[in-house]
Amino acid sequence: MTTPLQDIITSHIRTHGPMDMGTYMALCLGHREYGYYMTRDPFGATGDFTTAPEISQLFGEMIGFWVADMYQQMGSPDQIYLVECGPGRGTLMRDVVRVFRAVPALKDAAQIHFIETSPVLRELQEPGLSAAWHDTLADVPDDAPILLIANEFFDALPMRQILRDGDKVQEIVIGLHDDQMVLGRIPADPALVQLIPQVDGVYEPSPIRMTYMNDICARVETQGGAALIIDYGFLNPIRHPTMQAIQNHKPVALLHEPGQVDLTSLVDFSALRSVAARHDLRVMQATQGEFLNELGIQSRFDILAGKASDEQRNDLNLGMVRLTAPDQMGELFKVLCVCSTGLHPSGVKDVPDA
Ligand code: SAH
Repeated sequence: MTTPLQDIITSHIRTHGPMDMGTYMALCLGHREYGYYMTRDPFGATGDFTTAPEISQLFGEMIGFWVADMYQQMGSPDQIYLVECGPGRGTLMRDVVRVFRAVPALKDAAQIHFIETSPVLRELQEPGLSAAWHDTLADVPDDAPILLIANEFFDALPMRQILRDGDKVQEIVIGLHDDQMVLGRIPADPALVQLIPQVDGVYEPSPIRMTYMNDICARVETQGGAALIIDYGFLNPIRHPTMQAIQNHKPVALLHEPGQVDLTSLVDFSALRSVAARHDLRVMQATQGEFLNELGIQSRFDILAGKASDEQRNDLNLGMVRLTAPDQMGELFKVLCVCSTGLHPSGVKDVPDA
């Protein structure tokens, strides 16, 4: 099927020449009219993929406990900005604020700010939450401390694909053959070559992700507070491409039906750490399994399971296993935390080289 976005991209390439993967991804996900996130609710069994907060309330609740702990370590300020990047259906934040019932000062102090570009998802995020919406972090006020959460946000930000083969360094781009989109290569931009290792391989540098990380670090540094970035990715550089297109929970060809499929790639946490290291911040990390276990997901499970029906207990157990088991989300997903130097976040460990 030819999609409207395919026509737009094809005519763009005809006029301007080959298109890099980042521009392609940005158009496919974020085109105002035809972008993937702009036109649909992609989550759950009937959608294209499922995320941690949609799997179990345990996920958001553990983040809620983490936020409450940070808030108290910060001396329970009168006001904090609780910011979430890319909140999806708003499920995570609803689970987070439920925890605040046990911490009334936090309930009063927290002002929720969502960074969300999709009008469809903004509408789903609203019920039960009092929040302000923004297109970028730059629009969030900066006159109080900040606690920021980004779950499966960075993987949706565009990256490029660079192939190093000896002295030859090329960028993988999209061109046209008989008016059909095809992958090809052009010489790589030196600014991107600087971002990749010297060893042969295919790399996915992302200036956009690095800039976003830099903005987050600058906020935490000047306002005080912490940020928690959770995503599937790798802690040390890998040498093969990871960009994928997903439709109905299954991988499809990268250039399949632009605007109708989700595009993501694994997040390079070493690149995000290198950005964080330029700031006066504490930098910590863990796998998702380590993080949730350390925060006491088992105890929370026991409390909820004690009050649950057999069926609910079974669901809770399936959810906990999916979130934490090493062969499910437990190891593939990583947690990166940056915070003010005096704080001691739980669930994560200092990174020696940061
Ligand atoms: N955090 C949610 C959703 C993850 S999907 C969850 O875990 O379920 C990615 C989210 O980021 C969506 O809400 C999408 O609309 C939003 N998003 C993607 N690119 C964005 C951008 N450049 N700016 C703001 N939001 C963006």
